[in-house]
Amino acid sequence: MRLTFLGTGTSGGVPSLGCSCEVCRSTDPRDRRLRTAALLESDTTRLLIDCGPDIRQQLLPLPFRQLDGVLLTHIHYDHVAGIDDLRPFCIFGDINIYANASTVRGLKQTMPYCFTEKLYPGVPLLKLHTITPHQQLHLGDIDIMPIEVMHDWLPILGYRFGSLAYITDMKTMAPAEYKYLRGVETLVVNALRWEKPHHSHMLVPDAVKFAERIGARRTYFVHMTHQIGFHAEANRLLPDGMEFAYDGLTIEV
Ligand SMILES: [Zn+2]
Ligand SMILES: [Zn+2]
Ligand SMILES: [Zn+2]
Repeated sequence: MRLTFLGTGTSGGVPSLGCSCEVCRSTDPRDRRLRTAALLESDTTRLLIDCGPDIRQQLLPLPFRQLDGVLLTHIHYDHVAGIDDLRPFCIFGDINIYANASTVRGLKQTMPYCFTEKLYPGVPLLKLHTITPHQQLHLGDIDIMPIEVMHDWLPILGYRFGSLAYITDMKTMAPAEYKYLRGVETLVVNALRWEKPHHSHMLVPDAVKFAERIGARRTYFVHMTHQIGFHAEANRLLPDGMEFAYDGLTIEV
């Protein structure tokens, strides 16, 4: 499988609107971070993980082919605001969206026009599927194990695909959840900034500790603010086997 990081930025993206710090003014494309999302592809199956407000821009450079599913982590704007922009993909059929019960409820409230009996002509055709942590699902030739992590007090979903685990917006994880991550070789996890604790996100030191506990061969951090610093410099401060992902990075898993 191949994972492409479509976005690696925090909820406001980097550059941060109104900020003129050196990172926000950087000309290194790796310092420009759209909202966190990713594309997971096997030879026959294509899954989008989250669909934030930058999704149009993130998908434009890629081949226009069917999406076999959209896996959502949670209802926050930076993870779902681009769903209407998936409309062009309806030429391949309904768009199947997988999310936990609270996210499904939230989508019906935020996009009511997509879920009425009589649909207004031209709205995206979305099929919502409620999924539950620890109940495996199979989309095309990809096996998916949803896991549950905590985003402050909000339970949200992370996903395991074989030896790859993808977790964003996590602050903590219940001890009972670790067994679902046993044997993970490639870990993607959120790391907001270096210091100043945040109520709903891990900082880099937390994420490093978490990654060490999981023991993956490779760990990639996502959902960063400009306070991470320049990609080229920040990366050197991480332990071996860990790195900050950047937009457009593709890895084989
Ligand atoms: Zn987020
Ligand atoms: Zn800045
Ligand atoms: Zn969030």
